[in-house]
This record gives sequence, C-alpha cells and structure tokens, in this order.
Amino acid sequence: MTRAPAEFPAWPENADVAVALTFDVDGEAPWLGEGPENGRRLTLLSQGRFGPVRGLGRVLDLLAEFGIRATFYVPGHTADHYPETMAPILAAGHEVGHHGYLHLGTDGLDQAGQRAELEAGLTALDKHGVRPVGYRSPGWELSPETLAMLGELGFAYDSSLMADDRPYWETSGSQALLELPGHWSLCDWPYFGWTPYHGGLLADPAAVERIWLAEFESAREDGRAVTYTMHPEAIGRGYLLRMLRRVITGMQERGRPWFATHAQIAALATAPGAGAGATGS
Ligand SMILES: [Zn+2]
Repeated sequence: MTRAPAEFPAWPENADVAVALTFDVDGEAPWLGEGPENGRRLTLLSQGRFGPVRGLGRVLDLLAEFGIRATFYVPGHTADHYPETMAPILAAGHEVGHHGYLHLGTDGLDQAGQRAELEAGLTALDKHGVRPVGYRSPGWELSPETLAMLGELGFAYDSSLMADDRPYWETSGSQALLELPGHWSLCDWPYFGWTPYHGGLLADPAAVERIWLAEFESAREDGRAVTYTMHPEAIGRGYLLRMLRRVITGMQERGRPWFATHAQIAALATAPGAGAGATGS
C-alpha cells in the first residue's frame, strides 16, 4: 500500500482549519455483535440504547444551536431498530455514513462475511434513501479485504486509518481511497466508554477538553482538517454535552473553524496523482 497526503484548496468561509465532528450511533449493535451472551444483558444493552433514545437528540439540538453540520456513522442495525433516528439527522442536513450492520469487526470476518456486513449496512441505509459515500469500520479496525471492497462499491472516502493526521490517499492495488483519519485520543470512547465487561477510564472531561482544544490549535497552525469522533451514548450524557459545548466555543475563540461533514471535506480533495507524490508504503 502507498499513501500520499491529499491536497485541498483554501477552506471555505475564510476558515483557517476544517473541523469534522463525527458521531457513531452504535446503539446496541456492538454488544449484540460481540456475542450471544450479551443478548440477555439488559443493562449493557440499555447503555447502548441511551444513544439513539436520549443522547442523539441532545447532540442534534447542540449542533442546531451552533448551525453545525456533522457526520453520523450509523450501523444498519441502528437504522433498522431505531428508524426514528434517521429522519431528524437527515432533515438537519447532516451526513450519514456506513458503519457496518451489526458493528462486526472486519478483521474477525472472512471475505464473504465482510461483504455481507457491508451489503446489509447499505440495504438498511437505503430504506431511508441514503447511499453513503463514506465508511468507518466498526471498532476502528479495517481489514485489507474491506478496504478493497470500499473502492469496488464506489465509496469516496474511509475514516478508519491513522497513518497521518492530515487527510491522505490510501492506495490498495489500483484503487486510491481518501482517508479522513481519526485517532483514539480524539474519540470520546477511550475516555468515557466504561462497561463492566470491557473496563474503561471515566476521565475528567476538563482534561479531555484541553487535549481536544490543543489538537485544534495544532490543526489550525497546520491549516489541516481534523476529525473528532463521538458516540451519543457517551457524549450525550449531560455532563459530557457540556464539555462538547465548551470545546465548540473554545474552537470559535481560538480560530476560524469550518465545521464540515466528512463528505464536504472529501469533495474538496484534489484527485490523487494531481498533487504530491507517494510518501510511504
Ligand atoms: Zn462504532
């Protein structure tokens, strides 16, 4: 595989940095996908259910207040079992991306299983009129087979890999896919995603706020795009939504962010080969 940084024209709206706020509406899918034993763990499942039934509405209200468009990665299972979540996301002009069907890790599936998970996710989103242009692998692990299938299925970008903190072209075989990288440190889950079966940290939001704003300052100095990843079942808790509000206002105080969807950022990228040459393998 080769990769090369993607090139962009100046950001719209005289912005000095592009900020993608992204939300993975996982619901119960990760727990159900993990194993049948979780099917009777009503508390664990309800922890996931908090996302679509409570956290998501709060997130949407906050984004509406600031006039921010965001990207929501929705597993097919969430779209099928909480169909009422889709209309408000789409009505507000947000983007919906592919996040598997039952949130099954690509690395644990054979080729046929990976294709089935991709196709089931597409079918579920299609019921809501969505043909996603972007993909984020469940649990943030992407296999070479799924990476190749994304190109085949016509996806414009992926947001699963971490080889750069700038958007870059990830080339697999003859296909180049735009990568909009995230990072665990810019995700709410490692800080706030505790469960009795997986452990966790339950960090101080003030510390995470400092980390996320320091990364914003770095991205602004570089003039690059930066992605933050959140989950309505985590960031949608009352105390964390307050943190997100402080992060957004802190960004506005520190620079001129262009809050954009992943699709909007991807649409601006110069085609591979038109810019810098490959820098790695
Ligand atoms: Zn997820």
